[in-house]
Amino acid sequence: MSSAEEHIIVQMPDNSILIATKLPPPPKARLRCWSCQTTLEYTIGSAQVQCAICSQMNGVSSTPHSAGTAYVKCDGCSTTLKYTKGFERIKCGVCNNIIAVDQS
Ligand SMILES: [Zn+2]
Ligand SMILES: [Zn+2]
Repeated sequence: MSSAEEHIIVQMPDNSILIATKLPPPPKARLRCWSCQTTLEYTIGSAQVQCAICSQMNGVSSTPHSAGTAYVKCDGCSTTLKYTKGFERIKCGVCNNIIAVDQS
C-alpha cells in the first residue's frame, strides 16, 4: 500500500473538496485454534474464524477480551476505540473528541 492512498479526496456537488482520511483497519484479536492450536488473528465482530492451517471453523465469543469491554467508533476521526463498559462518556485518544456511549 503506497502512502499516496492515505487520503481520499471527494469532490462535493457544490464544487468544494472534502479530504477524508482513510479509515484505519478494524481492530484485530487472537484466538487459538481448538483443533491444531495455531494462533489465529481475526477481525473483532466476526462470528467464526476459519483456521488457515487445518481449515477448522472456530466460534468467536462476542466479547473476546473481557465481559466489560466494548467498542465504539469515534465520530470525530473514525478510529475504533476500546473502552470499559460503565462509562457514559469516553475521550478519543487520537482527536480528543468526547463520545457519549450508549448504555443499552
Ligand atoms: Zn487449526
Ligand atoms: Zn477521534
